[in-house]
Amino acid sequence: MSLLKVSDLSLGYDGRSIIKGVSFSVNEGDYLCIVGENGSGKTTLIKGLLGLMGKYRGTIEYASELSQNHIGYLSQHPRYSRDFPASVREIVMSGFLGSRRFGFGYSKAQRQEAALIMENVGVGELSQKNFGELSGGQQQRVLLARALCATRKLILLDEPTSALDPLATADFYSLIKRLNHQGVTVIMVSHDINAAVRNASHILCLDSDKSFFGTTHEFIHSPLGKKLIVSDCPCDVCSKDETVEVSEDA
Ligand code: ADP
Repeated sequence: MSLLKVSDLSLGYDGRSIIKGVSFSVNEGDYLCIVGENGSGKTTLIKGLLGLMGKYRGTIEYASELSQNHIGYLSQHPRYSRDFPASVREIVMSGFLGSRRFGFGYSKAQRQEAALIMENVGVGELSQKNFGELSGGQQQRVLLARALCATRKLILLDEPTSALDPLATADFYSLIKRLNHQGVTVIMVSHDINAAVRNASHILCLDSDKSFFGTTHEFIHSPLGKKLIVSDCPCDVCSKDETVEVSEDA
């Protein structure tokens, strides 16, 4: 069974549908990018997947081992004051709060796991620092480490690089790809379609006419993909010198 299966999903606000009849599934090890124009409903869909949207039509099914409490979530980068009153380590450890039994502190195993995760995402040396003093890219890595404490199975990222400079963005994308190669399943909203097709295994492109879901290769060769993408297909199936036809109005 898939980790997540969404069938004929429609959801929106105040009786107005934003997402209409969307279906897709995510298997273990997939890297799904959700793309689409501003206002197409990417964040609304993420809220729906997190169970924050109340009523909806269609179905959202999670594998039995994965409840909504066990999904690691990273939002767009909020601004934190330099005096934000928590250390990096405290922020990361708070990812365990969903699984902590009331009245008990963190276990030794959790402290060790958090240390390993911080090393893995490159913030091990920052663990005693004040979170508010870090750069935007470092803060996103810390918040990613917190998300990974909630689960190592599935992480949901909503435009995590929207406030980062190009170098920090490229670093963050390669970190996500490495985590995916280590077995973490990824669902990421992105406004950067070219980065999405370079990194993701699957694409969900939200569109008011007809949304697309399929492998990255299928997307690149679909009419919607041809309209939106301005780079060559990076997948193994295509020869490297094949040029993707781009329509004149792209
Ligand atoms: P995207 O992430 O693709 O830019 P959103 O999911 O943020 O799109 O928004 C999709 C549409 O839903 C937009 O028209 C937006 O104005 C509307 N919307 C978002 N949040 C709310 C809300 N809380 N109440 C009513 N409408 C909303």
